[in-house]
Amino acid sequence: MNHKTHARTSTTKRSAMQPSRREFLRRSTLAAAGAGILASGGRAWARHSDFVPAVVIGSGFGGAVAALRLGQAGIDTVVIERGRRWPIRPDGDTFATFERPDGRAYWLRDQTGEAALGLPQLVKPIDRYVGVLEVVEGNGIYIGAGAGVGGGSLVFNGIIVKPRRELFERLFPREIDFGEMEDVYYPRVQQIIRPAPIPQDILATDYYLSSRVSLDQATRAGFPTRPVDLAIDWDIVRDEIAGRRVPSAIAGQSSYGLNSGATRSLDRNYLSRAEETGHVEILPLHNVAAIERGDGGRYVVTVFPIGDDGEIVSAPQRLVCKYLFLAAGSIGTTKLLVRARSTGALPALNEHVGRHWAANGDIPVIRGLLPPTNAGTGGPAGHFIMEDLDNPFGPTSFVEIVLPPHVNAALSALGAPPHFANYASLGIPPAIGSFAYDSAPDAVGLTWPASDPRLGNFLAAAQQTLASLDQANGSLTLSFNPAVSAHPLGGAVLGKACDFDGRVKRYPGMYVVDGALIEGTTGLANPSFTIAALAERCMDRILCCDRLKN
Ligand SMILES: Cc1cc2nc3c(=O)[nH]c(=O)nc-3n(C[C@H](O)[C@H](O)[C@H](O)COP(=O)(O)OP(=O)(O)OC[C@H]3O[C@@H](n4cnc5c(N)ncnc54)[C@H](O)[C@@H]3O)c2cc1C
Repeated sequence: MNHKTHARTSTTKRSAMQPSRREFLRRSTLAAAGAGILASGGRAWARHSDFVPAVVIGSGFGGAVAALRLGQAGIDTVVIERGRRWPIRPDGDTFATFERPDGRAYWLRDQTGEAALGLPQLVKPIDRYVGVLEVVEGNGIYIGAGAGVGGGSLVFNGIIVKPRRELFERLFPREIDFGEMEDVYYPRVQQIIRPAPIPQDILATDYYLSSRVSLDQATRAGFPTRPVDLAIDWDIVRDEIAGRRVPSAIAGQSSYGLNSGATRSLDRNYLSRAEETGHVEILPLHNVAAIERGDGGRYVVTVFPIGDDGEIVSAPQRLVCKYLFLAAGSIGTTKLLVRARSTGALPALNEHVGRHWAANGDIPVIRGLLPPTNAGTGGPAGHFIMEDLDNPFGPTSFVEIVLPPHVNAALSALGAPPHFANYASLGIPPAIGSFAYDSAPDAVGLTWPASDPRLGNFLAAAQQTLASLDQANGSLTLSFNPAVSAHPLGGAVLGKACDFDGRVKRYPGMYVVDGALIEGTTGLANPSFTIAALAERCMDRILCCDRLKN
């Protein structure tokens, strides 16, 4: 059975096995089987027969939190997700691997994405498919983002880390109280995802040698380090080591998904719990093309059901809701909003929509000339964060992430100085990215002004940290690529486009609950934990104060 057959089977099977309790859920289940959102279809929205109280667009960190909390509050909710479900298969062949990529690896691309990493020789042709990793080509930057039920959690390195208080308080509006985040909302996310640091017995294996080397090197350079949690089931990694599961984390896999099932992705915690409430239905393979204001203060969402190859399979559906939660990720959410403002569908959106964007200061870095690291094994990420807080150009942090085995092999073949390690370098960039609508292709584009002098300090800070590491350890920085990031943040930020609880200004009943809320940086921390915790905070306030009803 090839992967295209898998997708169809999983969707259809689910619909048959879980009849929904409510009428709206019954109808939307038909859509999951490919019949459109509502059985009536067409222009039925005008008669309010395509009505659902709440719609959530996107099922990543923000969307998953919103779905669960809406479901628990008894609000009937449809989650619209453009990608497919990715249930872990017992034969260990759910996802593509770095060595044998196929369509499952990428969202609607004809070739793999290594050209963006400066390694065009690794690019391979693939079939066009609704795979897990999207590469967004902006003007001045390439962005990686997840696609599928679970969003970025399907492809992420599992790092769950919160910013230090002093940075959070410096970078976030003072209305967002770090004490409350730390006491209430970060723990709430932890309780459901259950991340944990790498256990010592696993860290001590050969697979994780590069993590131990990187920790030594940080210490030698005088940088403080602290452990991070990972959204990884370490018992499954133990099974990989013992040969009871397909080698995935230990084999250096990460951003195409882990076939062993070690990743605690959102489809297996937040989203499954949301569905269990009986009030939430997820529609995979439905792409939202537009949002607009309808009659009586309602919102209308135009959705295209798509097939495994991304092609539209039936007429667009128009779904009407009272409460619209935007959670399509920083780029997806902002594109929908900017287009809606430009086309006149939501003309009162303010001037901050589409602005205040950056990629969390995330820069992929490869270092070489280290002691032996066993690079290409031991994923999906290292077990600690190193921080250079006294850097004269600005603070930075580095988190080790696995070096994909095929990149490791290519570097060796190129004769690069041996023994590599791979990092996400994080700094504090100014949020000077923006989005603009172009009517000719009817598309919204992202621009990152990569040569703007305002980026000077942020880039110099990362280079300074690398110079310190290399000087203290006799190592060499092989690759430093600020044109690539996996941490898009901003576009509809707190206190500007939205209020401090995610309510979109001038549009009652419309909310943003994802990375679009955050102004370009989470403060030297990988963003998923803060996105989810902020979504928890928004949902608390929205559910308590806005009196949502079916
Ligand atoms: C390779 C990689 C590794 C990463 N590693 C880490 C890590 O270790 N730790 C960390 O904290 N962060 C990591 N990140 C970043 C993290 O994944 C994101 O910050 C996070 O997923 C963003 O959450 P979100 O809710 O804003 O959006 P997302 O999680 O991106 O979810 C948005 C969802 O909306 C869907 N969508 C978009 N547009 C539409 C549309 N028009 N219609 C319907 N659905 C739509 C998408 O398919 C997606 O499922 C990584 C990212 C990548 C790409």
